[in-house]
Amino acid sequence: MKKFILLVCSLVFILISPSFAQNTPLRIIMIGAHPDDCDQDGGGTAILFAKMGHAVKFVSVTNGDAGHQDIGGAALANRRYAEAQEAGKRFGVTYDVLPNHDGELVPSLDVRLQIIRKIREWNADIVFAPRPNDYHPDHRYTGVLVQDAAYMVGVPNIAADVPPLKKNPVFVYFQDHFQRPNLFRPDVAIDISSVFDQKVHALDAHESQFYEWLPWIGGYSNEVPKDKAARKKWLASNRSGRINPAVRASLEKWYGTSASNVKYAEAFEVCEYGSQPSEDDLRRLFPMLGKK
Ligand SMILES: [Zn+2]
Repeated sequence: MKKFILLVCSLVFILISPSFAQNTPLRIIMIGAHPDDCDQDGGGTAILFAKMGHAVKFVSVTNGDAGHQDIGGAALANRRYAEAQEAGKRFGVTYDVLPNHDGELVPSLDVRLQIIRKIREWNADIVFAPRPNDYHPDHRYTGVLVQDAAYMVGVPNIAADVPPLKKNPVFVYFQDHFQRPNLFRPDVAIDISSVFDQKVHALDAHESQFYEWLPWIGGYSNEVPKDKAARKKWLASNRSGRINPAVRASLEKWYGTSASNVKYAEAFEVCEYGSQPSEDDLRRLFPMLGKK
């Protein structure tokens, strides 16, 4: 009997010990407004997670059916869905698109419940989303919707058809450049230099966006090369971004002296709703940072 109790105790310990937890793949969900948002803001980090064996899902809250100058409606939604699936393959993630119209998103109860269900079904450890300050109303309201879900994912009586999460995830924001009401704070910065080419290859799947719609609405259609290889190269130069001083300081904090070699980075701010991670928790949740 004593031996049996000892066995049970050691089994329970193995199951709850931190080393066991560290070997369990993390479950990451990135939520954006359009089928190319997570890709741009968190795509490099998603590739790194996926390469390490962690499970990543992208969710687009709208179907993207307004993002083109020549086509729209179901034809555009279908085209963008196919592009998102191809991008998902190239990133190594699964890609869900919710059936809400592009450009018309509001932070309704209905969409909040859709998001609560997605986070629960994925059993997420970390949830990524935009901050609710942005030029685009869909981005803004996606930020609000995820904030609205951040507590409710644990409340059993809400969206009762999907079991609540036992542990509240950590919620983080994608980087942006908006200044009001407050600047983005890069709590974590991830070196994505080693996977930058793969990120560009995945972005290249969104042909309707990077080579057609965004150049058209931005007034630079004449810059897009016709040749496929040339336009991908152009996309890379267009999307390289600049590491601002705050992100550089965050890289130095997390990577030490090797931070100066970082060419491409993605940064994230911890949301004050959801679980509040310690520095050690962040190293566990972003294992590509390596041990101290
Ligand atoms: Zn967008």
